[in-house]
Amino acid sequence: MTEKLFQVDSYLKEFDATVTSVGPDQQTVTLDRTAFYPGGGGQPCDLGTLSGVNVVAVRMVGGEIHHQLDGPAPTVGSGVHGVLDWERRYKLMRTHTAMHVLCGVVFRDYGALVTGGEMEPLKGRMDFEFARLERSLVSEIEAAVNRELDAGRDVHVRIMSREEAFQIPDLIRTKINLLPQGIQHVRTVDIVGLDLQADGGTHVGNTAEVGRLRVADYKSKGAINKRIYVELENR
Ligand SMILES: [Zn+2]
Repeated sequence: MTEKLFQVDSYLKEFDATVTSVGPDQQTVTLDRTAFYPGGGGQPCDLGTLSGVNVVAVRMVGGEIHHQLDGPAPTVGSGVHGVLDWERRYKLMRTHTAMHVLCGVVFRDYGALVTGGEMEPLKGRMDFEFARLERSLVSEIEAAVNRELDAGRDVHVRIMSREEAFQIPDLIRTKINLLPQGIQHVRTVDIVGLDLQADGGTHVGNTAEVGRLRVADYKSKGAINKRIYVELENR
């Protein structure tokens, strides 16, 4: 199993690793350790280079992280140096944390649960169980989110046992009870005092790093489903 360096240090931009397998296409490799996020939870995968060769996609396949290259793969057992496209990754970290702040605010202020979300660098959309959503409410949400970002809340990541996670009442709303039986550890992302979720993504260490959020649009996706589109300032 690949050691997931991104799970413990989201600020790791470069790393050394050993190739553990090469796919039949000769352009896909697995490593003993990686800082490349394979995508998931609405966050797209990382891009970058492995020993100078472009990494064009990263995927989780049957518990292994596959790095797809745009050139010939190094041989099994050889050492490689990985470098993330940091500009992209850091924007995704800011965006992912912003989405959790949005979830936290909407749940705290309106009791509405999130039903899904997607993001790209500095942009995202989230669906909430709202009966009605109008301009004034959207403006209120936008202002509340920016207050929380400005508050400079720390973001703590922890990896705990399944048993320990099930003792935390706040985690129930992110449906950790649906976690497959085989999964023994739960990773949590805690925006201290605002939002606690089971989550595998990469986040910034403090909400002040996110910058300003703007609600770009919103629309109804059904009787109880409303979609909010957000954008972050480029800085
Ligand atoms: Zn998340």
